Amino acid sequence: MNHNILILVVEDDVTVRNLMKTTMKANGYRYIAAGNANSAIMEAASHKPDIILLDLGLPDMDGIKVIENIRSWTTTPIIVISARSEDEDKIEALDAGADDYITKPFSVDELLARIRVTERRLDYMITKDGEEPVFENGVLKIDHVAGCAYLGEEELHLTPIEYKLLCLFASHVGKVLTHTFITKEVWGQCTESNIASMRVYMANLRKKLEKDGGVQYIQTHIGIGYRMLKVEADK
Ligand code: CA
Repeated sequence: MNHNILILVVEDDVTVRNLMKTTMKANGYRYIAAGNANSAIMEAASHKPDIILLDLGLPDMDGIKVIENIRSWTTTPIIVISARSEDEDKIEALDAGADDYITKPFSVDELLARIRVTERRLDYMITKDGEEPVFENGVLKIDHVAGCAYLGEEELHLTPIEYKLLCLFASHVGKVLTHTFITKEVWGQCTESNIASMRVYMANLRKKLEKDGGVQYIQTHIGIGYRMLKVEADK
């Protein structure tokens, strides 16, 4: 994994900030740090970090506002780190443009694992370089021109909605997509019945995608949404 990436650590709690800085340093990551929302936005703009670790509870501005500001000019992955365990806050952060979330208290191993997931997504974004006619992730292949998906050599028999869902996840590999986002993208609006349908379609899609105990492509975030994982090429 390319560790030559720059991480912006945004955290007002000095103890937590120091723990994160020490973790970055010990694991060979370059980092910069900010203790409030305004300096976070300034550091993000002047240093163009590769990944942003963002505490939501900041003294000068709500972290959601920071996400909205940063998202207005860059797609840099944002991992929200929040003491708020309520799903609503995570959903609000993801819908504002965050890529992932960690709930405090978190372990150093968990933080590093999330950074690695995001790094794989970054590598993928760099090598992908715009819309490709063929999407590949492990043995999964989507031929956008033909409108077909394959697992290895075998064609996946998907309904139009399952195919649409698969393409949606493929275009956001590594990012947690909320129920609201998914239903708006696929059904045009987010209603209770759309969410219920989505669960059924997702279960069917996963059955076809992950059959015979194969590679896990879709991760469930209970009460929040789903994410497509970037699978290593040799698996
Ligand atoms: Ca805080």
